[in-house]
Amino acid sequence: MQQHSITLLDGAMGTSLWEKTTDKQPVWRYNMLAPDLVKQVHEDMIAAGARIILSNTFGANGPEVKRTQYTVEQAVREGLQIAKDAAGDKARVLLDIGPLTGLLEPYGDIEEDECEEIYTEMLSAGMKEKPDGVFLETFIDLNMLSVAARCAAKFDLPLYLSMSFEKVGKTMMGNSVQDMVEELSPLRPAAMGLNCSMGPDLCLPVLKSFREYTDLPLIFKPNAGLPVMVDGKAVSPYTPAMFKQDMVPALSIASFVGGCCGTTHKHIRKLEEALQEMQP
Ligand SMILES: [Zn+2]
Repeated sequence: MQQHSITLLDGAMGTSLWEKTTDKQPVWRYNMLAPDLVKQVHEDMIAAGARIILSNTFGANGPEVKRTQYTVEQAVREGLQIAKDAAGDKARVLLDIGPLTGLLEPYGDIEEDECEEIYTEMLSAGMKEKPDGVFLETFIDLNMLSVAARCAAKFDLPLYLSMSFEKVGKTMMGNSVQDMVEELSPLRPAAMGLNCSMGPDLCLPVLKSFREYTDLPLIFKPNAGLPVMVDGKAVSPYTPAMFKQDMVPALSIASFVGGCCGTTHKHIRKLEEALQEMQP
């Protein structure tokens, strides 16, 4: 029986967009190249049951955008406008922000000040479109997430913080669930948790471990399993029905559930079905 309220998030924008086009581009660029396609993905997610959607702005940060003809302001604002247009009053829209491509010093060459500037630029652009919150996701370095989260916290909007974990319960950079909870709880996020990583079955122990360290609402947005190669194409091993089945145990723990890489609106629809079946 469901003991707490659960809000359905969306599935993967990249997976869904690439299904609809043969011209593979960095995902944020479709905000300018094919806004109708981006809108369609959002609309499909909402029709499937998503009540929170993420703007198509994950990688629209300075270092990525400056190699193109576009600006961060344009990429981020377009992304939010498309999402808000699709959502109307049916879903909330969060400004989606991912990690930078490089690593922070001393492991990489990005200085903390520089990182702060990059995230502040994205956030300031996003604020002009009045999102309902900020979703920081797929981080593997707690230091980088911490810089981004502190920048985001200045804007006084609900903050959703999510990292990508390995099977051992740590991120690729060695951060544990406990590290994340201790470092970021003082920012009073609306929710914290994990996304991407692996399939729901392998991610479940990590989700359970969050509950040991915090009472905050938890985010659970795993992949549709690890992709396998079929005829030279990366294919997700999880069908929507399998995804539903393996997501069910998470529904007694997480408050915000959805899918990451490999999931489309079909996976979200199955998840919505699982939520319906839990209603008394
Ligand atoms: Zn992912």
